[in-house]
Amino acid sequence: MDELEPLLLNVLFIIIFLLFIPMFMHINRFNGLANLHKRKWVQLISAGIASISCIMFPITIVEGYIYDLRLIAVVLGGLYGGVAGSIFLVAATLTFRWFWLGGSGASASIIVCTILLLVIILLTKHYVNASRRHKLILGNAVSMFAAVLALTVSIVIFQVAFNLFFVISYLLLTVFTTAIVVYIYEVFHENMLIGERVIKAEKMEMVSQLSSSISHEVRNPLAVVRGFLQMMEQTEIPVEKRNQFLKICIGEIDRANDIIQNYLTFSKPAVQNVGNMDIKDQLQKAIHIISPLANMNCVEIESRLESYLIKGEPQLLQQCLLNLTKNCIEAMPDGGSLYIETKLQNGELVIVIADTGKGMTTEQLSRIGEPYFTTKGREGTGLGMMTAMRIIEMMRGKLTVSSHMKKGSTFTIRFPLEASGEQAS
Ligand code: ADP
Ligand code: MG
Repeated sequence: MDELEPLLLNVLFIIIFLLFIPMFMHINRFNGLANLHKRKWVQLISAGIASISCIMFPITIVEGYIYDLRLIAVVLGGLYGGVAGSIFLVAATLTFRWFWLGGSGASASIIVCTILLLVIILLTKHYVNASRRHKLILGNAVSMFAAVLALTVSIVIFQVAFNLFFVISYLLLTVFTTAIVVYIYEVFHENMLIGERVIKAEKMEMVSQLSSSISHEVRNPLAVVRGFLQMMEQTEIPVEKRNQFLKICIGEIDRANDIIQNYLTFSKPAVQNVGNMDIKDQLQKAIHIISPLANMNCVEIESRLESYLIKGEPQLLQQCLLNLTKNCIEAMPDGGSLYIETKLQNGELVIVIADTGKGMTTEQLSRIGEPYFTTKGREGTGLGMMTAMRIIEMMRGKLTVSSHMKKGSTFTIRFPLEASGEQAS
């Protein structure tokens, strides 16, 4: 049983570096690693570390000849990482193995890894696009092939003698570990994708719901412009008046243009674009987009904004802010006021969004953010709060909601500041 210990430690390395670190990077895609290419290489380096850690804690069969689970790291890292990635992994593994211990095992490793590299290069493209089931089958088949190949090369070329217990546990652990890593990673990945799809669907819903208030709002300035132009048709208007009318017309047209522009920026499909953004700019943009809807509902928007830098995707933050503000406006069908404030508190950026609307019951409050929970019947989707909460969570923020019936609701978001206390100029 003693010989199993290093192998179990290897399993742990594989799970940490091949599974946890990539998963962690997916969850924290706002920490500057949104770039897919960069992320892939960090994952490959992590797989390299898995392989090297395995080599450092092996089972010694004879002097200079060791066994460990590094091949799993090479196989899975390579299959997910593509041709360049697998060459990198094999090179890193062989170089480390050579300088770490040398011996006849290093030569065996070169033979095994070279053959394995060819197999991985042949399969990686197919693997990346395969379904979860096929990935499980293929990943295990290649892992198994690698393990059997390593044993065969050792026995046939280097005349190493193994005991049966070792061979069986080595093969079983290889299959078991590969299966676990592929399965958990794939399930996790699918869930992330579904989450992203829900956010997109919610955005489409929001875009279509906002469009009527937007077109309404654009019609107003157009009507004003039309009126003035009609007046100017009469030739007896003094030049001074005429110039004044023209100024008003230009102002109104600019306003209509602004409204459309803001709406279009939001409704465009999101590009992944993580960076530092100024919260004041972002809130002002959201207020621009939402103000047609506020006007339609006789809601007055009052804001007290300061500039602070936070990290994230502007488009997603916009969506989150719009979901919250839109709910507030919808909670005030007979008018009211929407209050938006930013402030610094305990080294965190706090955004307060409050309405003077109908409020929520304790039951509603506890269910807020549940998918499909809505009190708006066919008008509602019940996905707005869920999406907003998800986006806040992705940006490592926290949302708290308080509400009193007939008085209104307050949404408080706390974000970690990009550089603590940093105030944008
Ligand atoms: P929807 O707006 O489509 O109903 P949401 O997920 O955005 O879905 O909101 C879920 C529910 O939470 C709403 O139906 C409403 O009952 C409640 N709610 C959200 N925000 C507010 C608010 N500001 N005031 C009162 N109720 C709210
Ligand atoms: Mg909503």
